[in-house]
Amino acid sequence: MEEDNQSFFWIKSDGERKLATENLVPGNQVYKEKLVTKKGIEYRLWDPFRSKLAASIMNGLDEFPFQNKSKILYLGASTGTTVSHISDIVGPSGIVFGVEHASRVARDFLDRVASYRKNIIPILQDARKPSEYFSVFGKVDVVYVDIAQPDQTKIAIENCEMFLKKGGFFFLVIKTRSIDVTKSPKKIIEEEIEKLKSKFEIIQSIDLHPYDKDHGMVIAKFKS
Ligand code: SAM
Repeated sequence: MEEDNQSFFWIKSDGERKLATENLVPGNQVYKEKLVTKKGIEYRLWDPFRSKLAASIMNGLDEFPFQNKSKILYLGASTGTTVSHISDIVGPSGIVFGVEHASRVARDFLDRVASYRKNIIPILQDARKPSEYFSVFGKVDVVYVDIAQPDQTKIAIENCEMFLKKGGFFFLVIKTRSIDVTKSPKKIIEEEIEKLKSKFEIIQSIDLHPYDKDHGMVIAKFKS
């Protein structure tokens, strides 16, 4: 992956090279991440131990389809840690539709993240009912799914069929423990990939160790 591709940056901080995004809301922190200013531009360090998308970059993600002006559907926004970095990346002309069904975390997502960032549209809905997201318009460039549900692959496919453009990217976080505790993580990921193959071209599967022990990331491209 090229460095400084203008979607994310490598910043020297405390003598180390760290991943960062340009802060869309200067001065504003989301999860007490460090803010670093270089040549008058403020960056937010992006912690791979807190964000599986950052962990994927650290572990050799080949394609990064999140760009300036991209439109993203994000399922499982939680308190908005990763969504906030995607919001930095897509910038003021991009959009992140963030779906979250748990009201407790959704409140933090609204108060600490979405209310400061005009490019985030919070959707307090169940990802199992994509036909009820009334605020999503048109097709999106990327569907990102991190909902930790046993039937997450089925839910993800339904959302892609409804909202992902042809040739669009699909990022699926697979929580290997939540699906079946008796199977090995590698086997679980292989089985989930099998379910995707008829509709998606599989691009990459990434082990998130050492940043995250229980998850893998699968990246695919939508065929139809
Ligand atoms: N993606 C987040 C990040 O990187 O900052 C972490 C996501 S957390 C592992 C999973 C989230 O998915 C939880 O906040 C949970 O409430 C939400 N979730 C689970 N099932 C859902 C569903 N059916 N619809 C919407 N959100 C769901």
